[in-house]
This record gives sequence, C-alpha cells and structure tokens, in this order.
Amino acid sequence: MSDAPHAIVTGGAGFVGSHLVDSLLEDGFEVTSLDNFGSGRSANLEHIDTPRFESLEHDVREPFPDLGRVDYVFHFASRASPKDFESHAVEIALTNSEGTHNALEFARKNDARTVLASTSEVYGDPEVHPQHEEYNGNVNVRGPRAPYDESKRFSEALARAFQQQYDIDIRTVRIFNTYGPRMRPDDGRVIPNFLSQALRDDDLTIYGDGTQTRSFCYVSDLVSGIRSFADADPSVAAGEVINLGSTHEIEIRELAEVITEVLDTRSGTVHRESPEDDPQLRRPDLERAQSLLGWEPMVGLEDGIERTAEYFAEELESE
Ligand code: NAD
Ligand code: UDP
Repeated sequence: MSDAPHAIVTGGAGFVGSHLVDSLLEDGFEVTSLDNFGSGRSANLEHIDTPRFESLEHDVREPFPDLGRVDYVFHFASRASPKDFESHAVEIALTNSEGTHNALEFARKNDARTVLASTSEVYGDPEVHPQHEEYNGNVNVRGPRAPYDESKRFSEALARAFQQQYDIDIRTVRIFNTYGPRMRPDDGRVIPNFLSQALRDDDLTIYGDGTQTRSFCYVSDLVSGIRSFADADPSVAAGEVINLGSTHEIEIRELAEVITEVLDTRSGTVHRESPEDDPQLRRPDLERAQSLLGWEPMVGLEDGIERTAEYFAEELESE
C-alpha cells in the first residue's frame, strides 16, 4: 500500500457512493468499495481504471474484512428508495443497525475518521420548516417508512454512543433529496420515475395532489459538501452533524412541469394515491453547513435535470 490516504466507501457501487469514489480517486486517495450490489451496480464503477481502487462484494451486515491501514470510513451502504422500504424492510433495518455497528467497530479498530450517511428522513413528516439540525423530528415508529427512518435514527444514536464511549471522530451528514446520473431508471424515487416516464412520453405519476414539497440537490454538489466536511479540521467538525442539500424547494407538481418542459415531452400527468406518511414539506436549513464549510450548492434544477436526462436517455436506449 502506498502513502496515499486510504478510504473505505460502503455502498460504493450505488448512486451517491460511486460519485464519492470518483471524487476521492481524483484527489489521489486509495479507495476500497464494500457493496453487496443489492441496489448498486458494478456498471457504476466500471469506468475506473486505477490500481488505487478495489471493489469488494461484501454485505455490511457481516463484520468487515481486514483491509490494511484505513484512514477514512464513508458509511453509505443502505437502500434509500421508498419503493424498497416495504419489500426490503428487514434488510434495510439491519443494514442501518448491524451494518452501522460493523462499520463503527471497523473504524474504531483502525482509528479512522468516519462519515456516516444519514438522511432528512430522520425529521419524518416535519412540523418545523425548514429543518435545522436541532429539530428532533416527527417520525412514525410503526409506519411503513420506519424500517428506513428509524434505523437511520438508530445509526446516528449508535454513532453518538461510540463517540461518548470511545475517542473516535464520527461526522454525520443528513442528506436531503439528491439526484443525478447513475440513479437507476427503476429506482422508484421521483426524479428517476418522472425522467423515465417523460423519455417514453408516458404520463408522469404524481402521488397525491402534488402540493408536497422537496428540495432537490444535484449529486456533484452533495459530494463536494461531503468531501469538505470530511476534510474539515477536527476542532470545528469532529462529531458534528450537518444537513446537506438544496434550499430550492418546489412542489412535486411543479417538478413535473419542469421535467416536461426541459425534456419537451408529450407526457401529461396522472395522479396516484399518496403513500402513507409521505412527508409534506422538506427543505434543509443550511446555516450550519455554510458557516462550518462555506459550502452551498451550485447546480440549478433545470441544469441538473438536463444532465440527468442525458444519462437516463442512454440507459433506456441500452435496455
Ligand atoms: P443507492 O441504493 O444507489 O446506494 C446504496 C448502496 O448501498 C447500493 O450500492 C447498495 O447495493 C448498497 N447496500 C445496501 N445495503 C447494503 C448492505 N447491507 N451491504 C452492503 N452494501 C449495501 O442509494 P443512494 O441514493 O446512493 O444512497 C446512498 C446513501 O445515502 C444511503 O445511506 C442513503 O440512506 C443516503 N441518502 C441518500 C439520499 C438521496 O437522495 N440519494 C438522501 C438521503 C440519504
Ligand atoms: N412521488 C411522486 N411520483 C413518483 C414518485 C414519488 O409524486 O413517481 C412523490 C412522493 O410521494 C414524494 C416525493 O415525490 O412526495 C419524493 O419522493 P421520493 O420517493 O423521490 O423521495 P422521498 O423524499 O419521499 O424519500
């Protein structure tokens, strides 16, 4: 192994994880991806051509293998699409509990700085808007989203427990809705659904009346925020939790309009039943990320949608 810093990325074959791997490799890191390829794809990593990268098939619910010297652990493994919250409920709950336990034990053994991927879902269907990091959230522990959002809350609590008991630096990012190339067309989240539908001239499926809001962040912006948080000096960032995402909040019915306009499609819209416990409003308060990191997202929604649509068009063509 060289002198380059060695980073482990769990979930490295997934959407966010593979972009994070690219960014670390560009900056000279050695990177090992651990992924079970459940929702990730080896195709997301096949463009990489450097001996500084290794992709291992590993389920984080099992203890991690010995990987030599490790400087950073980016723990990003977890299915994240609401479509999977029911069909893969137990897998998700255990990935974010047993899996996070294994990741944190591994980080402790290696004395590695850790970045834990949490989510805006820890705020549930929020009663405080926008959501700041001190808000404790409104989560239904018995609801259909609980396998994901409660287990992410447990991930965070376990990270705090490790910090309280052992002297390791764990930084938590609460990621708000992020989109971009390498999401799967059948992922089930709203932008992959709308783009796949628009590219086929099918109607866009709006769940409920479409007045619920989200704030969509392009993946390169998210990754730059994650990287600068990981690199920040421990005196300001050790053990911290920050929101990362976009503050450009729009209603889902407006998102449908943006996508039909940008893609110039013949698609209309069709309404479907609203999923139970669907959060009605979501927008991050980014004050902490801005003051700590000077970070804010740069890519506008239309621009990001265009870039993502190009990727989806290629994916759908090769199907
Ligand atoms: P994704 O499904 O594309 O990526 C998840 C990756 O984790 C996949 O490659 C999958 O195969 C892998 N994985 C899942 N369970 C695993 C297990 N038990 N062992 C090993 N690998 C496993 O989803 P994503 O959007 O890239 O999400 C990545 C992370 O970011 C997740 O932790 C997610 O909760 C978090 N996040 C994402 C968003 C978003 O909008 N994309 C928002 C909030 C949080
Ligand atoms: N949604 C929709 N049509 C779809 C998929 C999702 O209207 O085809 C809605 C969903 O009900 C939610 C929002 O879009 O209000 C964002 O859903 P997504 O699954 O992308 O992420 P979430 O923020 O719910 O985790």
